[in-house]
Amino acid sequence: MRDAEDLLFAGPQRLGVAKGLFVGRFVADWVMPYPELPLLQRMALDHLMPGLQAFLRDTLDPAAIDRAADIPHYAIEGLARLGVLGLAAPHEFGGRGFSQMAYCRVMEAIGERCGSTSVFVNAHHSIGLRALVLFGTPEQKRRWLPRLAHGDQIAAFALTEPGAGSDAANVQTRAERSADGSHYVLNGEKRYITNAAIAQVLTVMARTPEGVTAFLVTPDMPGFEVAEPRMAKMGIRGTATGRLVFRDMRVPVDHVLGAPGEGLKIALTVLDFGRTTFGACCTGAAKAALQLAVEHASSRRQFGRPLGDFELIKKKLARMAADTYAMEAMTTVTASLIDRGLEDYMLETAILKVYTTEALWGIVNDAFQIHGGAAYFTDLPLERMLRDARINQIGEGANEVLTSFIALAGMRGPGVQLRELWGALHHPLGDLRTIWQFGVGRLSAVIHAPEVPVRDPSLRPYADRLAGLIRRLGVDVDRVLIRYREEVLDRQYVQQRIAGAAAELYASACVLSRLDAELAQADSAGADRPRSYPVAELSLRRSLRRVRRWLAKLHENDDAAVTAAADAALGR
Ligand SMILES: Cc1cc2nc3c(=O)[nH]c(=O)nc-3n(C[C@H](O)[C@H](O)[C@H](O)COP(=O)(O)OP(=O)(O)OC[C@H]3O[C@@H](n4cnc5c(N)ncnc54)[C@H](O)[C@@H]3O)c2cc1C
Repeated sequence: MRDAEDLLFAGPQRLGVAKGLFVGRFVADWVMPYPELPLLQRMALDHLMPGLQAFLRDTLDPAAIDRAADIPHYAIEGLARLGVLGLAAPHEFGGRGFSQMAYCRVMEAIGERCGSTSVFVNAHHSIGLRALVLFGTPEQKRRWLPRLAHGDQIAAFALTEPGAGSDAANVQTRAERSADGSHYVLNGEKRYITNAAIAQVLTVMARTPEGVTAFLVTPDMPGFEVAEPRMAKMGIRGTATGRLVFRDMRVPVDHVLGAPGEGLKIALTVLDFGRTTFGACCTGAAKAALQLAVEHASSRRQFGRPLGDFELIKKKLARMAADTYAMEAMTTVTASLIDRGLEDYMLETAILKVYTTEALWGIVNDAFQIHGGAAYFTDLPLERMLRDARINQIGEGANEVLTSFIALAGMRGPGVQLRELWGALHHPLGDLRTIWQFGVGRLSAVIHAPEVPVRDPSLRPYADRLAGLIRRLGVDVDRVLIRYREEVLDRQYVQQRIAGAAAELYASACVLSRLDAELAQADSAGADRPRSYPVAELSLRRSLRRVRRWLAKLHENDDAAVTAAADAALGR
């Protein structure tokens, strides 16, 4: 985790929006105005969506996929025919050249309909094929990409092993170079791999003397063994999650993807894309759950009234709508960061993944509760949606690991500055320039809240509250670093509060930006306030309150009691 940034971003970069929050700054340009798809992308999307929607509605049957624990061939062929399996691949290799924002709209629609299908497409496209698009040589791309982009072949991405789950760097699969240098010999095991047994091209991570290296592996290589093609599982049952064993598997040297030792960099990069599409798929699933809840709350009557009349049901519906609105806004902004060429968007994609997956779990749970006993039976989709939603908090980086990552990667910049300051203060002559620069920069961040530019005057109070809390996070990050110093690496209770506050600030900024754009649009059309106004307002109120709560817990908490209780439970 600590190496991630060094691996990916050695050179100087522009300050991203999430990193800015940790130093009390708001880099407004990345969030405001709310991003829009460029005209050509919008046209391509408009061209695709009606056919896709019809296919998802009329042909793809999520209940049947779940029952059969298989996505049938005709469904995969249908997706391929529509171009979905190569959407973000370049035109020259048979893809559609979609931006990340446009691609996310497609994934949202698929996620709205079927969890299994969205994970299947994500594994094939967002992490499987993407590795080749980003890191393949021209020759490798010519050789593999066209068939993958057309959907004639399926891709997979194999990182996880028995000893390397969250601890992805602990890959034990070994690749040894042959004496004549013509190939590598791979030995090891991969488990929990989506599409493992149905893929024709797999990006496999293995350890070489240079570090972890990525290999393009095909199942026809002698020594490739499918140990379990479809591990039986509770949710996203349509996906083929498999276990693979490699025994003296020969992989030619021209199948190395990127440079030897670059495997973790490749993994971290493609997972960034995967996490963005997680945001989109979760947004789609949230919309589906909200829709079901609204329909039921309107039609089901108890005590002589529709359920939607009761305040405890209203509360759930409002919360679901507010979270769904925020999820969509965050997905759009995060995808646009990739499209606009921000070099480092790891923090934003990690925040998006944690935020949307946790929110979806709450939303599906609320929809379930609103349906009462009916939700428990398999003729309604809710029990399947509940099962399907559970993977999201675990896959592509468990949320605990990403929470820790968000805090530590975010605090790294201010931490380095503080260390430099510490060094300067303790130098016999004192490095006055460092001290002065630090003093001026930090003092201004402590005194002045950043500018959060909104166009609609009705949003000014929210913008000001957001600005004030961004300033406060910057101050609290410095306090945490000064108080705990290197020890902060092990202080996960503290990390969670800092990450939680930063995530809510990012969510608020995205929501504010989206609402501001919707108000401007309504204004220019001479229309009333959009119906989304109270929904977005609730999202802002809840998020900003949560920021305050997270930061307050830095000072008043049950940490010692929590540790004592956990240790007692662990028998320590
Ligand atoms: C259905 C499914 C499909 C998958 N598809 C793929 C795929 O296509 N390719 C692939 O490579 N992998 C895939 N995975 C693997 C997935 O990415 C891993 O399951 C995930 O990274 C977690 O690893 P693990 O299961 O070994 O859990 P572990 O690493 O054992 O972690 C267990 C739990 O411990 C906690 N934890 C771990 N480390 C920390 C820490 N440092 N601090 C605090 N808490 C911590 C977390 O709560 C975590 O959920 C898939 C998994 C599933 C279930």
